[in-house]
Amino acid sequence: MLVYGCQMNVSDGERMAGELATIGYRQTDDMAAADLILINTCCVRETAEDHVYGKIGEIKRLKAQKPELIFGITGCMAQKEAGRLIARAPHIDFVLGTNKIHELTRVVQDIEQHRGHVVDTALGSAAHTYGEGRENAAITAERGQVLTGQGRKLSETEEFTAAYGQLDDLAGGPVARGGQLSAWVPIMYGCNNFCSYCIVPYVRGRERSRQPEDVVREVAAAVAEGYKEVTLLGQNVNSYGKDHGRADFADLLKMVDAVPGIERVRFMTSHPKDLSDKVIAAIRDGVHLCEHIHLPVQYGSDHILKAMNRVYTVAQYRDLVQRIRAALPQAALTTDLIVGFPGETADDFQQMLAFLQEIRYDSAYTFIYSPRSGTPAAGMPDQVPDDVKHQRLEQLMAVQNKISAEINAALQGTVQEIMVEGPSKNDAAMWSGRTRTNKLVLFPHADEQAGDMVQIKIKQPQTWLLKGVRV
Ligand code: SF4
Repeated sequence: MLVYGCQMNVSDGERMAGELATIGYRQTDDMAAADLILINTCCVRETAEDHVYGKIGEIKRLKAQKPELIFGITGCMAQKEAGRLIARAPHIDFVLGTNKIHELTRVVQDIEQHRGHVVDTALGSAAHTYGEGRENAAITAERGQVLTGQGRKLSETEEFTAAYGQLDDLAGGPVARGGQLSAWVPIMYGCNNFCSYCIVPYVRGRERSRQPEDVVREVAAAVAEGYKEVTLLGQNVNSYGKDHGRADFADLLKMVDAVPGIERVRFMTSHPKDLSDKVIAAIRDGVHLCEHIHLPVQYGSDHILKAMNRVYTVAQYRDLVQRIRAALPQAALTTDLIVGFPGETADDFQQMLAFLQEIRYDSAYTFIYSPRSGTPAAGMPDQVPDDVKHQRLEQLMAVQNKISAEINAALQGTVQEIMVEGPSKNDAAMWSGRTRTNKLVLFPHADEQAGDMVQIKIKQPQTWLLKGVRV
């Protein structure tokens, strides 16, 4: 299984591996030895799609040598391209959309027996997206007809079940997790926000929250398997529960915090418009809820925030940060930033730099805007030239790196609790772990084991990490 993209895709990949294990498949690193190859795709950037098309081409040779090999495409690009993928590369056996993990074993077993092509990208479930499901069923049927000459398409009954049936991925199923300490637990799928540069709402559909009992059950099962930390995942975790109304995100945090044996609870990602005072209070009052909030601002001027359809202003975001810091003075705040959005002026950019200086994030993921076809921003006028984007990115990173180094320098001499992860990549004598605020810490290894909680005195703070010794 090849997985591209975000943590949500990694989590989906673990669920697909768990489903496939129930019908006898095990993972291998040797692609030539595989009986089934699955690419779980991302389409957030065009370059990610180009990469997948390159892999699809490579696998054509393997399939020619081993015709019984089953080859499937899942994830966001599968959702977006559907039958066009098979029309372009007929050696693909099946294409499954983003809400189809529960269909995977059935489709694979069907192809084992009957061969032929299967395309299923209906997003809907009767409970949440009835209208959308109807529309997608129609699209699937239409694409199925395009494919009729090349192989089998889903029967009408199967399409009906896919579009209107109760089954979807919300209940959860078997999971073959990677890692040993930290488990990804999706709490919701989809997004309602339609930021103008982002394709996610089109390929993952509207927000659908899992039931709180299902989330708590999964967290408890992960703890029973030995995981000490969970990260609750969603495109916008702060709007959790708005669809079913049974618990909101703050309620869910409290429920997960109370799972016996859990040591740390993290979450991502937060849309600032939905982060409530109730969530802030839950983190403040929680025991295992980590004091790290990733709060993507994306830009620091109202003009560009409006063009991005982020639906908050700089002043509203500033007010939110003040409320977070008043309640959680020790919390780390990180963000995502995009430079070179269409219409960005030199004045916008100066406002962005000033905003960074004012907020002082612990760290930031910085991106150059790249047009994503199918999104409103791709067609906006005043696209920023590449050389200007690159210059601005460098300036932005220089400002942020200085701030990160200053914030870390203030930790010199402090004692931090870290959860030990294992040997560092570059030096086996040094082991690494993370603070509750998600900062990477290196220390000389003695007898610590992965998963231990240890106290480290910080001796050498750096921009990206902290070095220290055990106390
Ligand atoms: Fe995309 Fe905006 Fe939804 Fe995040 S909140 S997934 S950026 S549309």
